[in-house]
Amino acid sequence: MKFLFSELINHEQEYWTFCMILFKTAHALQLHLSGPSFKKLSSGFVPTMGALHNGHLELIKHCKQAQQLTIASIFVNPTQFNDPADFTKYPVTIENDIRLLEAAGCDILFIPTVAEIYPQGFQPTMHYELGGLENILEGFYRPGHFQGVCQVVHRLVALVKPVHLYLGRKDYQQCMVIKKMLDLTGINVQVHIVPTVREQDGLAMSSRNMRLNETERKQALSIYRQMMIIKERITVEPVSALIEKARVSLFNDGFSKIDYVSIADPQSLLPVSQVRTGETALVLVAAFLNNVRLIDNIEIIG
Ligand code: AMP
Repeated sequence: MKFLFSELINHEQEYWTFCMILFKTAHALQLHLSGPSFKKLSSGFVPTMGALHNGHLELIKHCKQAQQLTIASIFVNPTQFNDPADFTKYPVTIENDIRLLEAAGCDILFIPTVAEIYPQGFQPTMHYELGGLENILEGFYRPGHFQGVCQVVHRLVALVKPVHLYLGRKDYQQCMVIKKMLDLTGINVQVHIVPTVREQDGLAMSSRNMRLNETERKQALSIYRQMMIIKERITVEPVSALIEKARVSLFNDGFSKIDYVSIADPQSLLPVSQVRTGETALVLVAAFLNNVRLIDNIEIIG
């Protein structure tokens, strides 16, 4: 990686083309962003937990296509893991992440320490009133998870102060939660939701896929398969029957535990008992292959 900023400060065109700058402290990042060359630029922010794949890079791509300055962060946020084992096993591939981001043309990478994000410790300084979102689907099965997500995104956005924020539809409920947090806190950021990037066979890209062995990788595809069956059959079979069949098939295909298979309203995420002709709904799934928890969702039309 080239750190040519001091040489290229007067040749911004070259700077944009050649280097990504890495910051480990918020102070240095903010100093940099408050410089005269940056003040006038519109910035887009892509928060991540690293172990990057093409799904993350798609967010970078969208950001780059729309704005001049693309800022990514890598921070595995302890407060959003309700299961400590999931946190310790979360894949870390920092060297590769840096290479991928630089190749994707990311301008700035922020890799803060825990102390930088939580200077007062993990104890939350505020509770985010997320309403029903907090208690359904991911909220129900991962208590405290969304408070942790709000805590970290609130802090990151406050430090980075982006104009635009890029999030993946793969984490549909998380997108809704973050939008709600931004409303609650009055932070004015334009949120862009990027479609889910999938492997060729349909499996949604996820950092957790790295933890699957060869057999599990094949079994994992069952989530996509079941969602597509629901999509095809929604006009001819009752919702309850489709959900039951999907659950049975997931177990048959090797899933050890299913948190939910839900057909839900896209605004409230509450389960629907039917999808009327022309109506849009979501199929959302969360299930375990041994100890790896996978989630996915697709839109369907009745
Ligand atoms: P994570 O590193 O898992 O926290 O994800 C960082 C961002 O990338 C979040 O906004 C995710 O929704 C998004 N993301 C993760 N996987 C995908 C994917 N397969 N397609 C699109 N966006 C994704």
